[in-house]
Amino acid sequence: MSSAETNSGAPGTMQDHRPDYDRAQLHAYVVSHINEAVDNGWVKPFYQPVIRSITGKVCGFEALARWDDPTYGLLPPDAFIPALEEARVIHLLDSSIIRQVCRQYRDCADRGEPVVPISLNLSRLDFDLCDIFGVVEEAAHEFAVPRRMLNIEITESALGADPDYMTAMMGKFHDTGYQVWMDDFGSGYSTLNVLKDFDFDELKMDMEFLSRFGEKSRTILASVVDMAKKLGIQTLAEGVETEEHRDYLQRIGCEKMQGYLFGKPRPYSADMVTDLIGQYGAESTTERLYLDKVGAVNTLSMSERDLTPNSSKTGYVTSMPLALVEFYDDKFNFISTNRVFREGLANVGIDSVEKAQRLINNMHRPLARQTRRVMATIETDKFARIDYVTGGVPCVLRIKHITSSNGKMALLISIDDTIEFGERKRHERMDDALTVMYSIYDHVDIIHLGEGFIEPVFGNIGLRAQFDAPAFDNVTRHFAESEIYVRDRERYMEFMDHDSMVERIMEGGENFITNFFRFRQHGGDYAWKMVALIHIANVPGDVVMYCVRSTHWRHDGLFQAAYDGGYDEQPYNLENLETPDLSVNDGSLWQAIMRSKSMSLFWKDKDRRFIGANQSFLDYYGFSSVNEIIGKTDEDMGWHIDPEPFKNDEWRVINEGAYIEDVMGQCIVNGQVRNIVANKRPVYRNGHIVGLVGYFIDIDEEQESNGELDSLPLRDSVTGVLNFTGLEAATWRYVDAYKRQGLDFAIVSINIESLDRINAEFGYSFGDKVLKRIAEELVSVAGHQRVVGHVFSDRFAVLAQGDSDDALQGLCDEIESRLLAISQVDGTPCTVYALAGFARFSQFGDVEAMKRHNRDRRQERRNGEGGLPNGDGAASSLKLAE
Ligand code: C2E
Ligand code: CA
Ligand code: CA
Repeated sequence: MSSAETNSGAPGTMQDHRPDYDRAQLHAYVVSHINEAVDNGWVKPFYQPVIRSITGKVCGFEALARWDDPTYGLLPPDAFIPALEEARVIHLLDSSIIRQVCRQYRDCADRGEPVVPISLNLSRLDFDLCDIFGVVEEAAHEFAVPRRMLNIEITESALGADPDYMTAMMGKFHDTGYQVWMDDFGSGYSTLNVLKDFDFDELKMDMEFLSRFGEKSRTILASVVDMAKKLGIQTLAEGVETEEHRDYLQRIGCEKMQGYLFGKPRPYSADMVTDLIGQYGAESTTERLYLDKVGAVNTLSMSERDLTPNSSKTGYVTSMPLALVEFYDDKFNFISTNRVFREGLANVGIDSVEKAQRLINNMHRPLARQTRRVMATIETDKFARIDYVTGGVPCVLRIKHITSSNGKMALLISIDDTIEFGERKRHERMDDALTVMYSIYDHVDIIHLGEGFIEPVFGNIGLRAQFDAPAFDNVTRHFAESEIYVRDRERYMEFMDHDSMVERIMEGGENFITNFFRFRQHGGDYAWKMVALIHIANVPGDVVMYCVRSTHWRHDGLFQAAYDGGYDEQPYNLENLETPDLSVNDGSLWQAIMRSKSMSLFWKDKDRRFIGANQSFLDYYGFSSVNEIIGKTDEDMGWHIDPEPFKNDEWRVINEGAYIEDVMGQCIVNGQVRNIVANKRPVYRNGHIVGLVGYFIDIDEEQESNGELDSLPLRDSVTGVLNFTGLEAATWRYVDAYKRQGLDFAIVSINIESLDRINAEFGYSFGDKVLKRIAEELVSVAGHQRVVGHVFSDRFAVLAQGDSDDALQGLCDEIESRLLAISQVDGTPCTVYALAGFARFSQFGDVEAMKRHNRDRRQERRNGEGGLPNGDGAASSLKLAE
């Protein structure tokens, strides 16, 4: 690589330091001065902090090399590392950095500063040029650095060249007690393979994901985190520069973060360490061991509903309040808490974690006694739930056992205020619909109509500010005028009219009424929210709960239609949605949803069999009639690679009345793996669950229409089916489904034998059209349940789950004959010869072996045995008709 060329004139990092040098010259300079640089201490590690997402504390540093040159000034790694690698002297630098890191660690520890693990970057060449393992061992030993305090970072490209050798080398580090981290994950192509071959402790997700932070890269990050958790690997995101990045990563359960938001790499000094630790706090070893364990059990990615016993660990994170707590000697000790948890405490009037700790350890308090009771069995039960009331607010405290050692237990505690109030009342009076509804509000106030005041429960809608104003109607008017969209204001006032409130609620026959209004948001926009007024029975005086929840932005158009457009006469009541009678329903919202183009709606009976679906659903999957799905389950349809999470969610809806909100998943549509967000809720008849209704949104489609498709393409632009990377990702999911559930799958490889001829004869742009046509045929042959991809040039592949050998052979034959049947593309006559063969995962246990098998089989057929389709023996005698 000519480095002089790449740098000529272009503004780059190094010119920031020194605008007037020549790259080739610098290259020669560093190579000839490396010994001097090492001896004189020009080469040194800078340190960048790594932050633990859940606690916000510093949980590590990465050592990044700098060359502080007397002539050239401070040089970043890309000014010298490539040169040193090319000259095969990189190990001199790395060995020096390793020793300095160990020395500085010792210095820090001796000064009594808290110490955290430090990551070292190794080059692939270090393993060839010296005994790098020995170098690390020796330095660690000399400065008494525990092995667990050093992490070895290696990039995936470093593994590429000789994976067996590298796996052995990494294994050596790993087995001796160092953590081995994969650096720059996602920047290359073989990533998924690498993961399967080696047990990394941690994945560092490449900065690229955040630097192009769109819906697509968000989805990928979330999937990578989820995948890593399933493999028991921790995740770290690099390049965290904004609060938006941080919040998102926290939300998806990414365990660690590194980036300019928290600190740039800085040289070692006592001040640097004290500064950072002063600002963020340092993670102790105990804390780390617990938190690593917490990550490993996939707890952070669980939403609150997953913190219940026996629940599946799927689904993505909500910002759930969590505290990591140690229980020892009959005392609870809060090790760390997340922001949501602290906010939750504040909501119920507990303004510090210390106070919470005092309360829960104060045996005069009922809560303290209640928790002690469950602690006796928590080790075996793994889970406990305590209902209690504080400050008049009903709360649920959930405790999950993580690990025990030496009489200490690590526990994860979550507290939800009021959320499950309804559930506690279930056995008393409140009906089911109310119960479930209650768990989804984001703001609740209690209106004491008799006494004329409003008591805030939780949330921040703003009604709270006026809660003790004497005249309720004035409060409402004030609120409406400042917070409710002008077109909705009158309706809101009517809805909130306190004289008639209880009467109107009673009239409905339920103990609640609902309606939709636009509420003002930060920044002045309005968003639709649902307001429910719930009459609380058995309480003296008239007491109504005022509950507000967000609506999915997807519904906005519907509300708009309902309120600004033609549906005014029949304002939509929650009942219409919550209890749509499956056969007859004339609610206007229901009608609107049924007609919606973007929301794919379906409903199922208690056995999860389809009863019906709207047109959008049928169009989405390409069904001509609803009869094609009626009576079938998802598994019958086979459109999920891994049906398990969907199934579990649906059982929870049907058996527990759970609401499944915005759960991400994948499904197969026309040969493509699509990312969808699904929502499901129970359907009631006479108070009993009779099935479920759900809708989903194709988020890929969202992103496509937002033009974000090419941020990290998984799809081939020529054919529209998956590309190589997309296929690899899909294959990985199939392998996962096989490993976890024994679902076998096959790779059908398709080779277009005539493509070269077509390209030569008609040019590449016509060739592209042919490829597109081939892809269309494949999608149509593959049907609803299989994935289709374009590997590259003349190769296609279909992934098929659960087919018999006969069915697969039939599929191959059909593919060959369907492609042969193409007689022209775009009016130009052409003939497409293809060879299709399959390999089954259960037979080979390895994707590469499957591909090899398909290749070998193809070669055999080309060599005569079996010949080309249609008995036309000679592969080379391609006929481009006319
Ligand atoms: P890397 O291991 O991926 O290191 C992360 C790089 O991203 C560092 O650049 C760091 O300064 C930068 N970075 C960190 N946070 C942010 C952020 O929020 N935004 C942006 N835009 N950048 C951020 P640096 O120090 O220039 O290192 C570049 C590469 O040089 C490293 O990439 C690593 O591959 C290599 N390297 C660094 N030190 C050593 C070493 O001691 N030995 C070897 N063999 N390679 C090293
Ligand atoms: Ca690194
Ligand atoms: Ca990196």
